[in-house]
Amino acid sequence: MTLMNLAGLTDEQRMMREGVLDLLRVHLPWENVRQMDEAREFPHAAYNALAQAGYLGIFYPESLGGMGGSHTDIAVFLETLGYYYTGIAQAVTTTAIYAGMHVAKFGSPELQKTIVPKIISGQAKLSLAMSEPGTGSDVAGIKTHARREGDEFVLNGNKVWITCAHVADYLVVITKTDTQAARHQGMSTLLVDARSPGVTIKPLQMLGRRTTHANEIFFDNVRVPAGNLIGGEGQAWKNTMKCLGLERLGLAAISAGHCFKITEYARDYAKQRIQFGQPISDFQVIQHKLVDMLIMSETARQSAYRVAQLLDAGLPAIRETSIAKIVCTDNNFRCADIGLQVLGGAGYSMEYDMQMFFRDSRVGPIGGGSNEIQRNVLAKQMDL
Ligand SMILES: Cc1cc2nc3c(=O)[nH]c(=O)nc-3n(C[C@H](O)[C@H](O)[C@H](O)COP(=O)(O)OP(=O)(O)OC[C@H]3O[C@@H](n4cnc5c(N)ncnc54)[C@H](O)[C@@H]3O)c2cc1C
Repeated sequence: MTLMNLAGLTDEQRMMREGVLDLLRVHLPWENVRQMDEAREFPHAAYNALAQAGYLGIFYPESLGGMGGSHTDIAVFLETLGYYYTGIAQAVTTTAIYAGMHVAKFGSPELQKTIVPKIISGQAKLSLAMSEPGTGSDVAGIKTHARREGDEFVLNGNKVWITCAHVADYLVVITKTDTQAARHQGMSTLLVDARSPGVTIKPLQMLGRRTTHANEIFFDNVRVPAGNLIGGEGQAWKNTMKCLGLERLGLAAISAGHCFKITEYARDYAKQRIQFGQPISDFQVIQHKLVDMLIMSETARQSAYRVAQLLDAGLPAIRETSIAKIVCTDNNFRCADIGLQVLGGAGYSMEYDMQMFFRDSRVGPIGGGSNEIQRNVLAKQMDL
């Protein structure tokens, strides 16, 4: 029995949720997931099936061939993916939101027309290459640079922790195009063919999220057509900021879904694990742990939906977005930590799923603007 209360969802949203879960059960059977995690295997079959069923269109307006889903529709979709398996959610959002949204929102009509339909159909996967060895939280300090030569840019530099770059067809690269410009200025966004000469992608070993693992990228005199400039020269900072609301809503909704998955898993284990002649779920201390997990799941969910609601109303939701990002990702990891305790030795064993939930959820407070950076945003909102 799911613990997620679906009251308030429209019939269409409920149908989408059921449709997505049915599709994933077929194309990403749960019994294969841990094996794929160990093999660091991208969930191609599920990704392609979601695309073929049209779900990736939810992120884009009808004018670009999408379905024009509302922010609430997107929250329901991503929460459902995160509930089933956080890796497939990460695979979808990396292409469709983190990287794809730059093309859809700020790309030239030609780029939009070529790339967005390929994203929707699953023909093209994208990664967002922003972080560098010397600069993560401090995005304005990037050193990767591109100089204009006729109708091309020549790109040089180094990016790190780039999710899914090893399977990407295109990289959305944030780069300096004016190295003399002040911080936050002279930054531009380029769409780079991941197979261009001079691009080297080196997979990295990470603690979790192994099916969509991170990579290091080196650009050595990579020639990029000037037409692949996204959003005009010097516009990257401003445009990146405009993508944050949807990105953080995505992170929040996925984490909320994952909280419920972990809570249900721990509850089911506790009900069948016998100690002292009774299920450990009969011990009040275990019940309270499970209840705390439910409270964290529900709180996460409510904060994610609050952001969706405000964004659907056309409101900026800066404060709520940062709060949701913190609450959802922190609760996700805390659920996994408490869940691991509920399972005892089995929680610590590689033979059970809980260790994967624990590893996969740990990155939430780090990525997508760390939870310390979110607190800085909130401090500013409080006029501190
Ligand atoms: C699994 C994974 C996937 C990722 N995928 C991508 C991707 O696809 N594309 C991409 O571009 N990047 C990606 N990243 C990078 C991610 O965005 C950065 O790790 C994150 O922004 C933090 O940067 P950093 O790791 O350099 O840490 P740092 O910026 O060095 O921060 C280290 C610590 O200091 C804190 N800190 C830093 N500055 C401040 C401050 N001003 N106030 C308070 N605390 C501060 C941070 O919160 C953190 O706790 C990924 C990272 C991981 C781990």
